[in-house]
Amino acid sequence: MKFQAVKGTYDILPTDQPRWTHVFEAAARVLGRAGVQEITPPIFEHSEVFVKAAGESSDLVVQKEMYTFTDAGGRTLTLRPEFTPGVLRAYLEHGMYTRPAPVKLWSRGPIFRAEKPQRGRFRQFQQVNCEVLGLETPLIDAETVTLLYRTLQACGLKNLSVKLGSVGDPEDRAAYNRYLREELGQRAEELSKTSRERLRLNPMRVLDSKDAGDQEIVATLKRPLEFLNADARAHFDAVQDYLTDWGVPFAVDSSIVRGLDYYRRTAFEVHHAGIGAQSALGGGGRYDGLVEHLGGPATPGIGWAFGVERVLDAVAQDGVMQEAEAKPLLFLVPMDETAVAEVARTAFGLRNFFAVQHGYKERNPGKGLRDAERSGARFAGLRGDRERERGVYTLKNLETGEQLEVAETDLESFLAARLEADVQVGSL
Ligand code: AMP
Repeated sequence: MKFQAVKGTYDILPTDQPRWTHVFEAAARVLGRAGVQEITPPIFEHSEVFVKAAGESSDLVVQKEMYTFTDAGGRTLTLRPEFTPGVLRAYLEHGMYTRPAPVKLWSRGPIFRAEKPQRGRFRQFQQVNCEVLGLETPLIDAETVTLLYRTLQACGLKNLSVKLGSVGDPEDRAAYNRYLREELGQRAEELSKTSRERLRLNPMRVLDSKDAGDQEIVATLKRPLEFLNADARAHFDAVQDYLTDWGVPFAVDSSIVRGLDYYRRTAFEVHHAGIGAQSALGGGGRYDGLVEHLGGPATPGIGWAFGVERVLDAVAQDGVMQEAEAKPLLFLVPMDETAVAEVARTAFGLRNFFAVQHGYKERNPGKGLRDAERSGARFAGLRGDRERERGVYTLKNLETGEQLEVAETDLESFLAARLEADVQVGSL
């Protein structure tokens, strides 16, 4: 008898390990610099956690894609088919909602789905996952999308495209689903079997169909974006403005709808030109109702996941290895409303080189400095009216108390010089 790995699973051999390590280190570095902390939930949970989160109409439940088993104690358990439900269960169990928002959590590890194996589709595969909880400002959406993009870049990828959509608020989704039921209901017999099932349970998912016949019908339909209410529209526009400001290339794609029932507003995917049909490296979206749905306090949230196998497949095609390093260095404090977007913009620029965090709402200097100290940063950078006028940040060295003004355009060289000085002192 010859044993073989189970269909849809594979071994990561010693020669391949550095490639895997490279991806996980890239994620740890990019996410760590943005203040995202790692959390490792168990590989299995009570099945109810996943069923409740995914919703009755999801493929996970409908197509029985979950690996569920009964243990000797008679408990019904499931190998995680995604990270989000387990991470949120832990977030609630450990009262992390009492921490200052946003709470940013990332995870890595195996995911299990009983899908039909094919290129880029396994039954056990690895994901890097990120969740940002507690704030609903579009600045968070833009940051979260950017973190996915930057992480994939740091893996060595070049031919990336970000696709951005919005599914609106629950009432917009409901209106759109009503529209789809009316339109597609009349042509139900022309749809594939899967799409007919989706039409019954969650019509929006018909847009995801890969079936050519379905696609033709879908092409004639209105898109979720045409159903957005004014607030959801403004939110979507603001997300785009931030991404444009930060130079993150994206395209609005009105056909992006995420597979699970809990998504609202922003939905996004990152694709790679070279990996064929399964070109989505990763994706995510906003899920403001989910924490509450799982029994917690009303908490906005947004997250993403990417598949490491697909990333490695893409890296093999255009990958360039990039080097790691870095610890937190600077915390930027917005002292008025205008400064919130300004510090975010500065932080995203500097994060190409340094670990930089910032506040998400207006703070007075005292509280702002306390935030900065709490983050463990070496420098705090204050930004208000006066600084704006002069095109500077007021920088405070949190170790020595020394304070000085640095022009925005000189921040990068100032910080680089400080790090350089450290190296020299250290080598004496
Ligand atoms: P999802 O949670 O379905 O949005 O998946 C997020 C990412 O995980 C996808 O973009 C893929 O990169 C990856 N992924 C999903 N399903 C599989 C699978 N069966 N095998 C390998 N990678 C997968």
